[in-house]
Amino acid sequence: MKDIAEIRADFPILKRKVYGKPLVYFDNGATTQKPQCVIDTVDEVYESYNGNIHRGVHFLSDMSSEAYEKAREKVRSFINADKREEIVFTSGTTGSINGIAFSFGEQYIKPGDEIILSQLEHHANIVPWQMMCERKGAVLRVIPINDNGEIILEEYYKLLSSKTRLVSVTQASNALGTILPVKEIIAAAHHINVPVLIDGAQGVQHGIVDVKAMDCDFYVFSGHKIYGPNGIGILYGKEKWLSGLPPFQGGGDMVDKVTFEKTTYNELPFKFEAGTMNYPAAIGLASALDYVSDIGRENIASREKELLSYATSRLSAIEGVKIYGSSDMKISTISFHIKDIHQYDTGMILDKMGIAVRTGTHCAQPVMDHYGIEGTVRASLCFYNTKEEIDTLAEGIEKVKSMFA
Ligand code: PMP
Repeated sequence: MKDIAEIRADFPILKRKVYGKPLVYFDNGATTQKPQCVIDTVDEVYESYNGNIHRGVHFLSDMSSEAYEKAREKVRSFINADKREEIVFTSGTTGSINGIAFSFGEQYIKPGDEIILSQLEHHANIVPWQMMCERKGAVLRVIPINDNGEIILEEYYKLLSSKTRLVSVTQASNALGTILPVKEIIAAAHHINVPVLIDGAQGVQHGIVDVKAMDCDFYVFSGHKIYGPNGIGILYGKEKWLSGLPPFQGGGDMVDKVTFEKTTYNELPFKFEAGTMNYPAAIGLASALDYVSDIGRENIASREKELLSYATSRLSAIEGVKIYGSSDMKISTISFHIKDIHQYDTGMILDKMGIAVRTGTHCAQPVMDHYGIEGTVRASLCFYNTKEEIDTLAEGIEKVKSMFA
């Protein structure tokens, strides 16, 4: 594995200062920074072969189309899907979930049917299902969590019934860091022939994802959270599901034959890719996946585990700091609160020290409701962070405390 200085040198933004202080970037859960290779790849598309994909007969369009389809193949192999037809490019996790919620709802949902989610979900894995339930007269059922921030599996098993049509849960909580027992969740749903969608927005960047081994029916994630460009995401679906679902958007490229009387649709995966896709971002995502593979996904996971453990012991040793989410299974995300100090004040003061954290509900209001709090301060770490940066955060927290003492 490259050493940490080499890794950090790959990310130009990490060299910059904020308010004259070295940047400490602990908001990786919101978006990750980009290595030079990703920036260069996207630049190269625009500089040397930009042409709309799948449409032209000309050289540039051919080149772009080829790179776009190679990117699809890269994603397929990265998550170990069976076929390229099962990989749909979207605008991001939100786009993927909205698409499936719409299509699945149109095809399979009747009044009284149930969709199971967990209390750990990001709003992106709540609201699209809620909108679908309102349209179709279906009902959301929610797996509760305990005070460690873990879902209560026994309660999940009780929720599964002949009314359940789909289970949609996150791989890891963006608000607390908890990793969910997705294999158990999927196995129990499959036992009664119910498909499962896994929201991988906080999973794919932290370790190896193998959709075949996991046996999920759908898996979604965002390029920008795995060191790739913004505006691109993935919807993986088993062919048996995708082939039976209607498109969620109509337009160019997703069609076979169009007349005013009737339109027939393109084959998979193009049936779900209407209009001009963000091909420069898809090509950039492939470059990000190459970068992650070069660093090594086991290496990333073990480095992040070490950072999480160091950060947890550093922060929990500070008097007045309460950490929310104490599962043994966590990604490198720590949510905390300093006694008697509002999270926005903490976040704003840390910012002036060059430390970027996120404050608030983290688009996961039901998690905050469980604890009866308004929000937390969240430090989401990744492999390019260092123990020295964690020390800087710990010193920053002490300073915040002293300012409010
Ligand atoms: N799900 C989870 C668990 C997330 O953390 C996020 C982003 N914070 C999303 C969904 C939505 O991702 P995006 O905004 O990239 O669509």
